[in-house]
Amino acid sequence: MANFKTHVGAALGVSAFSVAIAVNGGLIELAQSHWYVSMGVVGGMLPDIDAAKSRPFKHLFMGLAIWAGSLAWYALENSLSEKSLLLAVFAVAGFVRYPLAYLFQKMTVHRGVFHSLLAGIFFSLSLVCIWHYLLGASRLDAWLSGIFLLLGFVVHLCLDELFSVDLANGRMKKSFGTALKLYGYQNVSGSVLLLSLVAGLLILAPSAAPLYKALSLVDWINAAELVPRFSHVLSASLG
Ligand SMILES: [Zn+2]
Repeated sequence: MANFKTHVGAALGVSAFSVAIAVNGGLIELAQSHWYVSMGVVGGMLPDIDAAKSRPFKHLFMGLAIWAGSLAWYALENSLSEKSLLLAVFAVAGFVRYPLAYLFQKMTVHRGVFHSLLAGIFFSLSLVCIWHYLLGASRLDAWLSGIFLLLGFVVHLCLDELFSVDLANGRMKKSFGTALKLYGYQNVSGSVLLLSLVAGLLILAPSAAPLYKALSLVDWINAAELVPRFSHVLSASLG
């Protein structure tokens, strides 16, 4: 199994490379490139969120807690006094970060349902919907963000699988076949639930027509001239 640093590095490299192709082909502006690379890196961390001690798990629930706390702030701003508002915000954020994270951790097995392609599609579609409907991104930007998130996610699954091949002895380790899977084979009810959520998100998601149109306009020959652009994108992403 690959470690956190390897996952982040691989996701960063593959995303920067793909974003460089997209920038060359005119699909993405150079100025937006670091955003898409960062989506790829987030995607590269997501499959391990079900490992309770993992960094992605802690980061994700911290992020969710801050998000829920700010939502509570906006929702209750006008109806509570300053003191009670502050209390409510901390209560909501605390609830998400601790009891909810604990519950999630108890309900999931590492490399269970969240370590699958289906989960990757679920996270990507969720991002597309949140980005477009809640944060007002254009349909093209929302879909491209979802695609880069999925790309990082798939890189993670492949890397874990690759690490389960014992190269020195030419054998497969026991973990072979547990990393890259279509859905959580051991958890049928969880997978069915995830599949229905994916179906719901597909119905809800904005039309992907702008994405198809933009893809059809890409100048692929120019897109293949990579080397100079790749280093630009990578250095811009690393700040
Ligand atoms: Zn993993």
